[in-house]
Amino acid sequence: MVQYFLPTGMRYSILEERKSFYTDEFNLEKVAQWFGSLSGKVKFAVIIGRHTKIYPKKYEEDATTTIIVDEYSSLGDVRQQIIEFLPEAVYYDRNVYDPDDRITGQELAFDLDPENITCPVHGTLAEKMKRRQGLSFCELELEMVKQEAVSLCDFLSSRFSEVRTVYSGRGFHLHVLDHEAYRFSKQERQNLAAIVKKEGFHIDEWVTSGEMRLIRLPYSLNGLVSRIVLPLKNEELERFDPIHDERTLPVFLKQVTF
Ligand SMILES: [Zn+2]
Repeated sequence: MVQYFLPTGMRYSILEERKSFYTDEFNLEKVAQWFGSLSGKVKFAVIIGRHTKIYPKKYEEDATTTIIVDEYSSLGDVRQQIIEFLPEAVYYDRNVYDPDDRITGQELAFDLDPENITCPVHGTLAEKMKRRQGLSFCELELEMVKQEAVSLCDFLSSRFSEVRTVYSGRGFHLHVLDHEAYRFSKQERQNLAAIVKKEGFHIDEWVTSGEMRLIRLPYSLNGLVSRIVLPLKNEELERFDPIHDERTLPVFLKQVTF
């Protein structure tokens, strides 16, 4: 198994930790608030053990697949299904569906990941991939990607009225919740992604263009780094400490010293 290098204190979560997090800590009220302005049913998705190779034995065959969770009665029911799978990652589908399951729009989002940053120590993504360290990242890369998030937030805020920033546990996501952005065509999304890349931002174009429609669920556990996915106030982003901020630490990490 390839072990990735991560900043100090970050590590995979084991099954018991995922279970205690989703049983005792996962904040459904805050999840509900996140989707507050959205009408229509949200589809969720889980990946049990694609990167960590940590999964309940009975789900061995499904460990690397993306499992859609779209049949549920309440968020409490979603929580129960998550506790059943004990996934390394939980996502939601940015597509908006009408009651007949037709897509009526898609939330516009931007994904900034630290591995895409060229690091003075670890080099380019290609160099990291060559060492099979494509998912590794260091504190310097995390700081650099945070600065990109600050700039991208400014850039987007000059064009849209409702931009939200989320710390994903590895990098940062910027969500645009303006109604007009939900209705953008694929071409408009691709054009915007190209503009943003040209401005020098290391975004994942698949996310912005919409081909990758899943995005990490705020307040879920990122099981690759044992951090809680945390929405931030845009004005606090600059001084946010992604490695030590208490709000991102699950209880199981607070109980040990490192
Ligand atoms: Zn580095």
